[in-house]
Amino acid sequence: MRYQKPKGTADILPGESEKWQFVEETARMLFADYRYREIRTPMFENYEVFSRTSGDTSDIVTKEMYDFDDKGDRHIALRPEGTAGVVRAFIENKLYGPEHQKPVKVFYMGPMFRYERPQSGRQRQFNQIGVEAFGSDEPSLDVEVIAMAMDLLKHFGISDLKVALNTLGDTESRDAYRKALIDYLEPHFDELSADSKQRLHKNPLRVLDSKDANDQKIVADAPQILEYLTDNAKKHFDQVKSLLDSLGIKYEVDPEIVRGLDYYNHTIFEIMANSKSLGSGYTTICAGGRYNGLVEELGGPEVSGIGFGLGVERLLLLMESEGVQFPNLNQLDAYVVGIGSDTDAASLQVVQALRANGFSADRDYLARKPKAQFKSADKLGADYTLTIGNQELADRTIHVKQMQTGTEETVSIEDVKNDFGAVIDKHFNK
Ligand code: ATP
Ligand code: MG
Repeated sequence: MRYQKPKGTADILPGESEKWQFVEETARMLFADYRYREIRTPMFENYEVFSRTSGDTSDIVTKEMYDFDDKGDRHIALRPEGTAGVVRAFIENKLYGPEHQKPVKVFYMGPMFRYERPQSGRQRQFNQIGVEAFGSDEPSLDVEVIAMAMDLLKHFGISDLKVALNTLGDTESRDAYRKALIDYLEPHFDELSADSKQRLHKNPLRVLDSKDANDQKIVADAPQILEYLTDNAKKHFDQVKSLLDSLGIKYEVDPEIVRGLDYYNHTIFEIMANSKSLGSGYTTICAGGRYNGLVEELGGPEVSGIGFGLGVERLLLLMESEGVQFPNLNQLDAYVVGIGSDTDAASLQVVQALRANGFSADRDYLARKPKAQFKSADKLGADYTLTIGNQELADRTIHVKQMQTGTEETVSIEDVKNDFGAVIDKHFNK
């Protein structure tokens, strides 16, 4: 029996994992600048946490959920997205309490699970980086979240981006729009796809999001939410737009984006990248919005929230197709060559001392001849090769070669062990 990874999953091997580290470390640094702090929630939750938040008619709940009854007969689901678990934790841990500075700003990164047909950029276990900010209705927070997402993508070296912006208004706007949408769609009922028929009365906004080509044709002439906004909802949206203008962030209002989840309201947005690697034209790489009813929906107080989620697999596909240069996170500072078995202990001591001083260091562990060891140092791209033979052992010295320049010096082994940085400064950084 030869085992293979489950369909729709990936092994991220050395060589590839450094790219992930770069993405994650860059995100952590940027989130710290914006004062978002990390939250880690379980990878599985009670099924209802997702069914209540994503909505009973969403694709995620109806088709894509990895759910099961555990041995204690609890209905459990692997998380398909990050927001629901964060909201559950926000309520359970009373992060809305007075001791927490508002808005409460958090980020997360980690695997999500959806039962989907695997294809390029679409897996069953995939990773998201996301943020959530709770406890402010101010349009300036909407704009901070969008600006941060754009900033993040810029740090990843992606520039050909478009912000698609829409609003779903407040409850009143949404109810009026919902009614208008049902009135418009009902005469087309027989032509709609099976999914859309189901959704027409439960959640007509979702019909707008349908991927069925015929549904899309019908939807093209549907009334638009912008015509149904209350004065307050319109004011919020206008402020978001003018604040985006003041930061010089370009956007396009796109009345067709509605987002898959039920509890979005006011601002929703998608950041799209123009790249061939993800299909033709613009593809969504990051998506988010306001969800002012979500905390209440999960049994918490009336606290508003806004956030975004970004798919890391798609981000990496994009970075590669854009030719983004990843930094070398696997740089080897020093390779220690020992000539003869008598040098075994001394070379091990040097390697350990270098590591203790913060250098990355390696040596041979296969008892190979010097020639093969020198070849390894070359192949691994070591900045310095340090060599100990019997003569050096007797003299308490070590031979240091700077590989790039070919400069060589024989120096005290104690100096190297105590402070290799000083040795470099003295002999090689002239
Ligand atoms: P799509 O329309 O492509 O199915 P979605 O609306 O389901 O996307 P969201 O729930 O908004 O996606 O998730 C945010 C991001 O997570 C997406 O823009 C995408 O980058 C990523 N993502 C979603 N599903 C998958 C998946 N199955 N595999 C890899 N990445 C995914
Ligand atoms: Mg999807």
